[in-house]
Amino acid sequence: MSALRSNKQNARLPNVLCVDVEEWYHPEFVRSKSLPNRVSYACKQTRVALNLLREFNVKATFFVVGEIAEESPGLLKAIVNDGHEVAFHGYHHNPLWTSDLQSFEDEVERFNSIVFLATGQLCWGFRAPSYSLDNRTKWALRVLKDSGFLYDSSVFPLKTPLYGEPLAPIIPYHPSSENIAENDDSERLFEFPALVYPLLGFRIPVAGGFFLRVLPLIFFRKAINRMNQKGFPAVVSFHTWELDGEIPRLKLGPTKSFVTYHNLKNVHSRLSSLLSEFKFTSFRRFLEGYPYQMLDPRSIQDLKNEICLRKDIAAFS
Ligand SMILES: [Zn+2]
Repeated sequence: MSALRSNKQNARLPNVLCVDVEEWYHPEFVRSKSLPNRVSYACKQTRVALNLLREFNVKATFFVVGEIAEESPGLLKAIVNDGHEVAFHGYHHNPLWTSDLQSFEDEVERFNSIVFLATGQLCWGFRAPSYSLDNRTKWALRVLKDSGFLYDSSVFPLKTPLYGEPLAPIIPYHPSSENIAENDDSERLFEFPALVYPLLGFRIPVAGGFFLRVLPLIFFRKAINRMNQKGFPAVVSFHTWELDGEIPRLKLGPTKSFVTYHNLKNVHSRLSSLLSEFKFTSFRRFLEGYPYQMLDPRSIQDLKNEICLRKDIAAFS
């Protein structure tokens, strides 16, 4: 049984918008290529994303790759100054299955100090590159908990050729450290799984990214409405490089090229449609403002205490 309760009365419960801040050479099918010339466009593309969100007065969680944060601390400041949240998206955008507990712990610590120095805030959340958090890499949960993270949004609750945990819940839950696909009431870390739309016994992936480029928007509308009717936020994501139709394109073969580059020209208008139709915010603002709708009453005080603790540590560090 899930520890989280729905609140069907709250029609204005916001959804969560995520912006994955990564370079054009970070996607899974591109990162393995040896590139002689890795020109960085992340700052320029993130500023396009900031402008888009300003236009719709929407706040979001920016999952930033560590090496971009290290190179451009001013970008973190610009994100936070606009009222958004900075969270962690891996240091070099390598999937967790290429890493281990100790290396990940070092990366989290390094990222946290970069964010803190640039913005005065501590990092609350994580998204694994390529949704690589599954039962093979569940050791990462311990690192996140030990580092004081309050949430994760890395579980993809269906099986794709690259990733996925098909038995995981499709609503927010507290992942068990034994089995990431199961809820454990004694855990405090929130998991906000990628958005799927259940249809005829299947789960249709509508998390954003490639799926936002390839599927009709009607699936997104149905999935968001369904989630909201159940009293939970839908989590929708896009990548900064997807707002740039001019990124360098490599020859990856037909399938990989399709997944990586198809329909980039329509991302801006598709996002604009969703941002004008639905209410969105960041994970941080959601957890600060709306946990009462989802949590068992005895858990509310625990979460408030954890949020206060994170703020106090940030204030006195
Ligand atoms: Zn990514």
